[in-house]
Amino acid sequence: MTSYADFYRRSIEQRDEFWAEQAQLIDWHTPPQTICNYSNPPFAKWYEGGTTNLCHNAVDRHLKDRANQTALIWVSTETDQETTYTFRELHAEVQRMAATLISMGVGKGDRVLIYMPMIAEAAFAMLACTRIGALHSVVFGGFASGSLATRIEDAEPKVIVSADAGSRGGKSVAYKPLLDEAIKLSKHKPGAVLLVDRGMVPMILEAGRDHLWATEREKNFNAQVPCEWVDATHPSYTLYTSGTTGKPKGVQRDTGGYAVALAASMKHIFEGKPGETYFSTSDIGWVVGHSYIVYGPLIAGMSTIMYEGLPIRPDGGIWWQLVEKYKVTVMFSAPTAVRVLKKQDPAYLSKYDLSSLRALYLAGEPLDEPTAQWISQGLNGKPIIDNYWQTETGWPILTVCSGVEPMATKFGSPGKAVYGFNVKLLDDQTGEELTEPNQKGVVAIEGPLPPGCMQTVWRDDARFVNTYWSSVPNKLVYSTFDWGIKDKDGYYFILGRTDDVINVAGHRLGTREIEEAISGHPNIAEVAVVGVADNLKGQVAMAFAVLKDASQMDDHAAMLKLEGEVMKVVDASLGAVARPSRVRFVTALPKTRSGKLLRRAVQAVCEGRDPGDLTTMEDPAALQQIKGLVVVGG
Ligand code: ATP
Ligand code: MG
Repeated sequence: MTSYADFYRRSIEQRDEFWAEQAQLIDWHTPPQTICNYSNPPFAKWYEGGTTNLCHNAVDRHLKDRANQTALIWVSTETDQETTYTFRELHAEVQRMAATLISMGVGKGDRVLIYMPMIAEAAFAMLACTRIGALHSVVFGGFASGSLATRIEDAEPKVIVSADAGSRGGKSVAYKPLLDEAIKLSKHKPGAVLLVDRGMVPMILEAGRDHLWATEREKNFNAQVPCEWVDATHPSYTLYTSGTTGKPKGVQRDTGGYAVALAASMKHIFEGKPGETYFSTSDIGWVVGHSYIVYGPLIAGMSTIMYEGLPIRPDGGIWWQLVEKYKVTVMFSAPTAVRVLKKQDPAYLSKYDLSSLRALYLAGEPLDEPTAQWISQGLNGKPIIDNYWQTETGWPILTVCSGVEPMATKFGSPGKAVYGFNVKLLDDQTGEELTEPNQKGVVAIEGPLPPGCMQTVWRDDARFVNTYWSSVPNKLVYSTFDWGIKDKDGYYFILGRTDDVINVAGHRLGTREIEEAISGHPNIAEVAVVGVADNLKGQVAMAFAVLKDASQMDDHAAMLKLEGEVMKVVDASLGAVARPSRVRFVTALPKTRSGKLLRRAVQAVCEGRDPGDLTTMEDPAALQQIKGLVVVGG
């Protein structure tokens, strides 16, 4: 067995050799001639001269050996439905969808916008697009008309695929009226709209534009649509970042590099084997859904679960019930979901046979120690593997690669630099590399970015260069905009986003560090800390906390006492300089639809500024509550 250190070193020092080997994990129609063309940095072109197809690698390739194996398991606890599709059935559905799109005029390079709930047809649509060389642009189904309209304008889709409704917590949410409104708002109009009618909410169809999937599917029932062999560098899709720090960026991904990166990650990181079941609890509207609900597991010949519903409905055991039923070996979720489960009876974890499960992977936000400990205990010490990445990279930057060499995890750390990612910690002022252990710097990646990462910002090369490659002085290097440190063993710790630093009387403090200190108080469930402009000190920290026991929230004296206690906790762990000037108690924190804290919005409200683009916000009431406290409480 090679050591991980050697494996990693080769991926950087013998880059082309290393990635030529990984390229053999997928099928090529024409093998690549060049492995990496980095003659025009920071634009990397992977596998030039090669032609391939994502859908072929995810579906057709498996027909020879596993046509009758389950490919897709769709489970909805919203509508109480469960359907499985073998690779052969998936192949047929995707061809029906592909034929339908072609009949609507979609061809290679055209965009198709997918605005759908978590139903199997959404996966068919994605695969149908890549099959014919069209680009999909999946927009999270929870977005309303305004955000949808801006994305329609940006992607200029020929066709939009949607549905009558989604469902959340047992209540249907009509999609069609939101879509109609978005199309009205958008300067660009799609030529056709393809609608899946789930029979949940009546739809008014616009003649000539709107078509029903059931009808089209029937028409194209026996369609045979061959895969379009596209250049490795042909874009496969665009996808927007979560919008946590500002205006979402349209990430453009290639075809060949992405397929190789995913295939390699399934082997070296997730250790998923053909025939096994992969369960990612994400949504197809996010990057995790693209890489690890649809493409990664299918490329690896695994069965993948697509789940529509909440983690606690019908009860907090539903995910574990699915693990038992489908013998899930690899599971992928987010800390925010685990925190939801943590509020439920822990007995749900021991109620089911979870012996098939090898590891639980978590990503998307910092994994706090209490959450990690809780789930680790609940899963009887099975590995809980934190992994750090971004929509931009498409697959993990930091984690443990146990498929290469068994590696221990450390609480609070997503792990080491993943092969292919030349990760550096840089001084944000000078751009100097920090090489001593435990020095805090910006997590950066030296070019070229490995296969699978973003090629550019959709239709905006300048924004790609200016946003990502120009923030570190004197260096052309990709910035993640996250702070990190690396310990003496090469394990990284993410300390928060670079714009989440506050400067109190000349002291630079990470909001995340203050939050962690406050979480040490036994009655604090969750907390957000932001820096607020202050005439005297430059900035002061303000904290908004959710209580575990909120029974005394209306008791002003009790809350004042609690505020004092929280301040003492911060004094004790970080020193008085980090003490928040105010601690306010709220019932919820404003988050993105993907569960990330919207600190910039809280900060703007505290400073009396316009909070900006809030299209990705889950619950506007949470921000209103903070607004009320800031104005009333002073
Ligand atoms: P935007 O870029 O539009 O502001 P976003 O950064 O939240 O939105 P994503 O690409 O979904 O959009 O999230 C990536 C970010 O999430 C990372 O840069 C990091 O801040 C955070 N993150 C992801 N995984 C982890 C992790 N395991 N530990 C700590 N932070 C993480
Ligand atoms: Mg980001």
